[in-house]
Amino acid sequence: MDTNRITVAYGDGIGPEIMKATLEILQAAGANLEYDVIEIGEKVYLAGNTAGISNENWHILEKNKIFLKAPITTPQGGGYQSLNVAIRKTLGLYSNVRPCISYAPYVRSNFPKMDLVIIRENEEDLYAGIEYQQTDDVLQCLKLVSVQGTEKIIRYAFEYAIANNRKHLTCMSKDNIMKMTDGLFHKTFDRIAKEYPSITTDHYIIDIGAAKLASDPERFDMIVTMNLYGDIISDIAADVAGSVGLGGSSNVGENFAMFEAIHGSAPDIAGKDIANPSGLLNGACMMLVQIGKADIAEKIQNALLKTLEDGVHTGDMYKDGVSKVKVGTQAFAQAVIERLGQLPVQFKPVHLNHNAKPIVIKSPIVPKTEKVLLGVDLFLDQDNKTAEELAAMLNSLSNTHLKLDRISNRGVVVYPNGHASTFCTNHWRCRFKQMGSGLTFENVLELQAQVMSLNLDIIKTENLYQINGNLAYSVSQGEK
Ligand code: NAD
Repeated sequence: MDTNRITVAYGDGIGPEIMKATLEILQAAGANLEYDVIEIGEKVYLAGNTAGISNENWHILEKNKIFLKAPITTPQGGGYQSLNVAIRKTLGLYSNVRPCISYAPYVRSNFPKMDLVIIRENEEDLYAGIEYQQTDDVLQCLKLVSVQGTEKIIRYAFEYAIANNRKHLTCMSKDNIMKMTDGLFHKTFDRIAKEYPSITTDHYIIDIGAAKLASDPERFDMIVTMNLYGDIISDIAADVAGSVGLGGSSNVGENFAMFEAIHGSAPDIAGKDIANPSGLLNGACMMLVQIGKADIAEKIQNALLKTLEDGVHTGDMYKDGVSKVKVGTQAFAQAVIERLGQLPVQFKPVHLNHNAKPIVIKSPIVPKTEKVLLGVDLFLDQDNKTAEELAAMLNSLSNTHLKLDRISNRGVVVYPNGHASTFCTNHWRCRFKQMGSGLTFENVLELQAQVMSLNLDIIKTENLYQINGNLAYSVSQGEK
């Protein structure tokens, strides 16, 4: 992505101030960029565009491919969509990269050696936001995980480790519970790890992984994880690093990339010239690396570190005894500009590979395999019936292809051999398995018609497949 023309959005709140400061530093460092400025965010939302961006501005984003974005304010309530999520998914920005670095002693942190990069899958998982209310009692959110999305993010993480001289990559998932979706993530990680023998690896279940990240973050070098977990742990990591105001992030896809600060629009301090521009500046440095200007990024990052260690601090960092001078946003930018070309003395200077190429990961082609229908789960909305009563009705059907195998409620088996103590909602999963072989979807439709004739309310049907010789559905909890 060698380019000099990028799209810029000044955003809301402190956005315009920190963007002005950032662009001045880029200019002074010799980034030599041209900008198309677009309006996104609060003004666009409040003018009635619930997406927060106009069609013309989508075209500019697509034309320039590289987007430097200041934070925006999302109005509370109403039907406003998350513009961040829309941009990531529309432009295929599958990889979210968040370095979480301690700048101690200049920024307070209990973990002065923390230097961690989190790579978060950015398009799938529960973040697809596909939700349904199925009964009065039960709502559902679909967790969609693809082979392509998983493989791309894991390969990206390994390639990032190589390109940035990182040594250890940790995968986090919850595959002890979600054996299929999270299981795919963990298995793909283990498979791809074999192609990168120079990177050591391990895997943590996300709950203990998050706990270790909060209590002992210096043990981690890089983490790759799924969308929702990554969302949560990257905030934990940024917070324990002490550098929420300093963190930048990139959202990278096959053809487009977006760079920003990790913090929001901070309306409480907007317009006062006191915001710290370092987060957006760090995001902009990630952009410079992406567009082949790693030398400029290195120059800026070293000047920023020198500014911090010289004790020139914005109010959020200012500490008596450590800081020397408290400055506003624009004066901080000038202090960085004055130090362009200098190296830090206390901090380790940043050395980037000046010939780094952007990491490009193509979607893998998933081979087509044999898919055989083995049965069906019919989900029913039924009040005032026990599992035994429901089973008696379903067992009374004279279907020659499908037979009731078990009933579960919220994933736990309640028939046969249920436990009286199990709390049941009105959301029943009735699993039918084929008798003999050669089951077709016509047979399923026939069963559905029979179930409806019993005045039972079918709210959802899931086919049970064998794919590539493996059972392609989970067994119920408590199933023997
Ligand atoms: P926030 O990150 O804007 O602010 C949290 C606290 O940190 C505030 O006290 C703020 O003053 C301070 N702060 C943040 N950035 C700072 C900086 N650069 N310098 C000094 N202090 C800084 O989070 P919030 O208040 O929860 O959110 C405000 C708005 O930002 C909301 O509308 C939210 O939706 C939006 N938001 C946008 C993005 C984005 O555009 N990427 C990300 C997060 C939040």
